[in-house]
Amino acid sequence: MSLLRLTFLGTSAAQPTLHRGLSGITVKADADLLLFDCGEGSQRQMVRYGTGFSVAAVFFTHFHADHYLGIIGFLRTLGMQGRDVPLTLYGPPPARRLLQQAVHLGVEQLAFPVEFVELKDGDEVVRGGYRVQAVAVDHRINALGYLLREDERPGKFNLERARALGVPNGPDFGKLQRGEAVLLPGGATVRPEDVLGPARPGRRLVISGDTRPCSQLVQAAAGADLLVHESTFSDDEQARAVETRHSTAREAARVAREAGAKRLILTHLSSRHDTDPSRLLTQAREEFKGQVEVAYDGLGVELPLRED
Ligand SMILES: [Zn+2]
Ligand SMILES: [Zn+2]
Repeated sequence: MSLLRLTFLGTSAAQPTLHRGLSGITVKADADLLLFDCGEGSQRQMVRYGTGFSVAAVFFTHFHADHYLGIIGFLRTLGMQGRDVPLTLYGPPPARRLLQQAVHLGVEQLAFPVEFVELKDGDEVVRGGYRVQAVAVDHRINALGYLLREDERPGKFNLERARALGVPNGPDFGKLQRGEAVLLPGGATVRPEDVLGPARPGRRLVISGDTRPCSQLVQAAAGADLLVHESTFSDDEQARAVETRHSTAREAARVAREAGAKRLILTHLSSRHDTDPSRLLTQAREEFKGQVEVAYDGLGVELPLRED
């Protein structure tokens, strides 16, 4: 996998505002387009931000209305566009029951197959070059965060070493890079480990969904390239955060710090912070010294390959 890019479709909590839509993030992982949550209006945002509609799978964090009602219209649009490839919808129980209802609300019969898969803590969905792992979080109802984990990449190819060992220029270089041994004309064998450096770690992306700060996310986000954490409230709304099982910006930042994440993006803002999220940013920065931003609708983020 080389490309890993997120687009924030909606960054508002509970209800849409003039500037922010409801929850939804697309993740482009090479040819795969994934959707994490699909709040009302997500399909319009996908048009606006040019993500395309060829979604391979949708991962729901939980089934509060602001996170999934957009799937009704989206499936209908896909049907009208003549989609014929299957679509898989993942989420915590009762994903199957709720999504089945949602599918039939929008249209009598979809022209393409839709599969429903319920996930619990630790379940993994293996895809080409990466996997998506479900992480149980702490919200008012059954809820999951997700860890997208790229497979390790082979180490750097040492060209000088390969030449010194007598590997001829050409296809043998590619074979070694892909992990195959090659037989030299003189009869000697060169193994990949003779010419490759140590394997390079894959990228890690964590999306919290709605949650109180929790140790499961600290674990999942250990050394993550990016933690996208909900940040509904600020310090002076702490009691409300506890009561509604959401997080403050400071709490989200503590999770990032404890996890040793490289970068934190705050999203799912209550309408109070809609046009001026500076308080959230300031409070988060007091806790976390890495890169912190507040998401806005249309924010695109590309995660570079890791070399270390
Ligand atoms: Zn929400
Ligand atoms: Zn919620």
